[in-house]
Amino acid sequence: NQRWSLQGMTALVTGGTRGIGFAVVEELAALGAVVHTCSRNQTELNERLEEWKNKGFKVSGSVCDLSSRDLREKLMETVSSVFDGKLNILVNNAGITKLKSLEEHSVEDYTTVMSTNLDAPYHLSQLAYPFLKASGYGSLVFISSVAGSMALPGLSAYAASKGAINQITKNLACEWSKDNIRANAVSPWGVKTTIQRNTPNPNIHYQEQLLRLIAGTAMPRMAEPEEISSLVAFLCLPAASYITGQVILADGGYTAGGCW
Ligand code: NDP
Repeated sequence: NQRWSLQGMTALVTGGTRGIGFAVVEELAALGAVVHTCSRNQTELNERLEEWKNKGFKVSGSVCDLSSRDLREKLMETVSSVFDGKLNILVNNAGITKLKSLEEHSVEDYTTVMSTNLDAPYHLSQLAYPFLKASGYGSLVFISSVAGSMALPGLSAYAASKGAINQITKNLACEWSKDNIRANAVSPWGVKTTIQRNTPNPNIHYQEQLLRLIAGTAMPRMAEPEEISSLVAFLCLPAASYITGQVILADGGYTAGGCW
């Protein structure tokens, strides 16, 4: 059934070596897509590529620090040559957090968060546009966060980057619908990933507050990465052909209200 398949489609998933990105790569590949991914760590990337090859998934990868404009351009040149100038799916997933008060954010904290979480997805979408258009059927998915819609402790710069992503999603959906390209964002609540690895000196107080908020959620637990990747995959499928410009929360009911 073609409505529920990504057979014959090509996808770029940023940050696919761990966490949500890893689950997205597997989900799209299992539905038949040919996937390219990237991260900053060559060794880890090679290990994942080997793993995917053994599972029979068609995945290639290249090292790229997405916070650099030049390296983003290089990545898209690679993607274009791997996929012959045609890209169906772009999942802007890679992202980092800082967990500290607004007044504790250094210039570098702010810049790193913004360049990775906002500049990179914005610029990659621009770079991918001709290839998405050429594919005749394009789908963009941004991995946003509940922090982009609700104030959460210690995440001010991160929230600013994700709030901007939510709005870009709507603008792109309107600008590019003429080219048969859809754009949506997925906003997870807490997910069991390795994101702490890229969060130096987290403020313990805010960490505890976040855990308390999760404990007060209708479903009082964190999500598995696969509970996010399933929604990402759905948005890429022909079955989702009328869904565009949406920010969809996968939040265990957090924004519906507290548990009781
Ligand atoms: P992880 O840290 O587990 O994985 C992030 C992936 O992105 C890794 O593959 C990492 O590889 C890569 N990455 C990070 N920075 C860069 C960079 N500058 N250039 C290239 N690759 C990079 O994070 P998650 O899976 O948790 O996060 C994925 C997305 O989900 C992010 O956008 C995050 O904001 C969002 N999210 C996560 C939540 C959570 O609770 N975990 C909740 C809500 C949203 P490497 O470090 O080797 O480069």
